[in-house]
Amino acid sequence: MEHILSLSYGKDSMACLGAIERLGWPLDRIVTADVWATDDIPADLPPMVEFKARADAIIKERWGITVEHVRGKYTAETLMYRRRVKGNHAGQIRGWPMTKGQRMGCELQRPCKVKPLQEIQRGGIIYLGIAADEPSRIAGHINRPNVKLPLVEIGWQEDYCGLWSKYSGLLAPIYTEEVRGGCWFCPNQRVDSLRRLRKNYPDYWALMLSWDGDSQFPFKPKRTLRDYDRRFQAEDEGRIALEGKRFRWEEVTP
Ligand code: SF4
Repeated sequence: MEHILSLSYGKDSMACLGAIERLGWPLDRIVTADVWATDDIPADLPPMVEFKARADAIIKERWGITVEHVRGKYTAETLMYRRRVKGNHAGQIRGWPMTKGQRMGCELQRPCKVKPLQEIQRGGIIYLGIAADEPSRIAGHINRPNVKLPLVEIGWQEDYCGLWSKYSGLLAPIYTEEVRGGCWFCPNQRVDSLRRLRKNYPDYWALMLSWDGDSQFPFKPKRTLRDYDRRFQAEDEGRIALEGKRFRWEEVTP
């Protein structure tokens, strides 16, 4: 039976490599699922794409294993433009993915990440990077057959996993720089992150605005991406202050 590490490139996931090594557990494969925004644009921001390539090279050199990158059948854009077949919105395109909270992700999670990983991991023993100080996550996985938690077994907590990753050259830029982890178009991201995206990646922002114009659902529960665009434009032009007073949407929306 194969022993497979499910790699997210986060610190806990990375530290699993060290824990598995110390525990003397077998490791046959390392797999990760990449989400794609479109056919040729990854959902990760460029610094994260570069980090993953660097990390893959380190892993190959130190553990002798090539990280396998799998992807779902559909890109995020394809899924957003698929038409609903049932319910009140039948016939309309799906639009922005519905979110299920910060931890649970959104409706892209299953087709773009979970399913392709499940296909490759079927029948193997899966190592998950859940730290020893994450009781609620541990409770959700500890009794699953075919799942092992190396960090729990060895007792490594989140802080230690961060240090291990840092000193192994495997700490993702999301922990040290203003780089977002996860999809750059994620509706769960904070206002600051959206502001940075618009400033640093105008092409991605323009693509999001075109999706926003086609989606019958707003980007966030009560706001379209165009609302955010108006807000940031007003900030750029000095019509509203970035700091010093509480922002009110009435200031920028018609
Ligand atoms: S990062 Fe955001 S958009 Fe991407 S799968 Fe997770 S919840 Fe969905």
